[in-house]
Amino acid sequence: MKCPKCSVDLLPTIRHKIKVNYCQSCKGMWLEHDELEELEDEVFDFGDRWKGSLVIGSAATSHKCPECTALLQRFRYRFYNLEMEFCPNQHGYWLDEDEDTKVLELMKREEADLQRKLLAEDKWTATLAHMRSRSFFSKLRDLFHK
Ligand SMILES: [Zn+2]
Ligand SMILES: [Zn+2]
Repeated sequence: MKCPKCSVDLLPTIRHKIKVNYCQSCKGMWLEHDELEELEDEVFDFGDRWKGSLVIGSAATSHKCPECTALLQRFRYRFYNLEMEFCPNQHGYWLDEDEDTKVLELMKREEADLQRKLLAEDKWTATLAHMRSRSFFSKLRDLFHK
């Protein structure tokens, strides 16, 4: 599997408890789609703000999906101001260098206000599990096909 940005081989790595394919050259990472079905809402009940956290701003990029070479599309996840690219054929997501660490820092700062006491790292794992589910990909696709 090659990096969509610099074409070097990606290495399987664990970052913040998540399995990613990591690029040693640009330090970005590829997250594969999980074959998860619709996830129960209460599992991801982080309060009302979470529910309003839909995706904004989306655009095509010139980066190719490491699995199917379709052009990745960029979007922003409002809740954490997280910028990601995704494959329109549901293969996964691309994250730039330290994007995950940045979001984790944000989550740590917010830990105190959460109704349910979840550690930031567990929340990040849950967030990504949610984003890698089939339902979330469908949501993204709808957004691009409007
Ligand atoms: Zn790279
Ligand atoms: Zn793909």
